[in-house]
Amino acid sequence: MSRLDQRFISLDERYGAPNYHPLPVVLKKGKGVYVWDVNGNRYFDMLSAYSALNQGHNHPKIVAAAKAQLNRLTLTSRAFHNALMGPLLKEICRLTRQDKAILMNSGAEAVETAIKAMRLWGYQVKKIPKDRAEIIVCRNNFHGRTTTIVGFSSDPNSYEGFGPKTPGFIEIEYGSGKSLESAITSNTCGFLFEPLQGEAGVLIPPTGYLKEIRALCSKHNVLMCADEIQTGLGRTGKLFCCDHEKVRPDLMILGKALSGGLYPISAVAARSDIMDLFTAGKHGSTFGGNPLASSIGLAALKVIVEERLPQKAAATGEYFRSLLQTLKLDFIQEVRGKGLLIGVELKKPARPFCEALAKNGILAKETHEKTIRFAPPLTITRAQIQEAFNLIRSALSYR
Ligand SMILES: *Cc1c(COP(=O)(O)O)cnc(C)c1O
Repeated sequence: MSRLDQRFISLDERYGAPNYHPLPVVLKKGKGVYVWDVNGNRYFDMLSAYSALNQGHNHPKIVAAAKAQLNRLTLTSRAFHNALMGPLLKEICRLTRQDKAILMNSGAEAVETAIKAMRLWGYQVKKIPKDRAEIIVCRNNFHGRTTTIVGFSSDPNSYEGFGPKTPGFIEIEYGSGKSLESAITSNTCGFLFEPLQGEAGVLIPPTGYLKEIRALCSKHNVLMCADEIQTGLGRTGKLFCCDHEKVRPDLMILGKALSGGLYPISAVAARSDIMDLFTAGKHGSTFGGNPLASSIGLAALKVIVEERLPQKAAATGEYFRSLLQTLKLDFIQEVRGKGLLIGVELKKPARPFCEALAKNGILAKETHEKTIRFAPPLTITRAQIQEAFNLIRSALSYR
């Protein structure tokens, strides 16, 4: 580590809450699939800010949209209309095949919004008795960091010390339709799930699971709510992960790549009979749907569609996985993934390997202790994957 690195790291450590354990790399520039540190070393970004950078760092078209809008109008609040929110809502609805959408900022905020929408629907439409609505969630879920959301996490590090937990959440096993059906009661308003569990270690449910839970939710009059914040917008090789089984949820939560990494933008898209329950004053956000965010969101979605990023992710993801599968190292348990969301599960802690990868020019982060996640921007080319793979192979082989 250079003295320059150390200077910035010491500042973070001295003045910042120690709520992250970052790799000792200080970045100052990004372009496409690459980032550079303060010493001028180049790295492949194999995390993409947890899939917020599907379009790559500083995509010129998204940056241009942001710059143009910065010179015009940035914030109106929702006390007035602006000329950009409507077009973004329309595009989100077209892509998700939903009727209406609402814009928020962080992913956790959109999850909170979906929870409120499901509860409102539960009371007003399903006629669940007051304060009795239940939402079913999955073991090892990750939906964000607010007090309510961590209250239904199964990771003690996420919830311990933050009680009391918000009531009304029931945990079931992930990937099992049986487990879902037996948890449904007449008070169940919704089922909140990730179509592929990213933070839990890139866990893929059995084929047919999405279709099965769709059928169960319809059968029992329960809203199906997919958190596609990480899996959506091309990451898994389809525009949305639910598209792999041609399933349309009742609510979809988006975030991360909705801005291409320029700005926090999130959304919930749903049927109009659900969304219309948010009458004036029922919900809101000062920055949600602001003109700057909307222009960035529109440009970010345009890049995903125009550059055919889902199709690219499907092809390059398969290629990347096939290369990783050729690694014959006894400490590798499994290589799995969908599109460009890939997990390499090890038989030992992944952190030292991530440190070795960083020294070789590959930035990746361990998730759930023993899994290395590889999730580069979807703009990565075959040749770049080949180059990155050579660096990964030498880092893992000679450690
Ligand atoms: C990142 C993430 C969130 C939370 O988003 P924030 O913007 O960090 O609040 C929620 N759900 C999933 C699946 C995520 O990956």
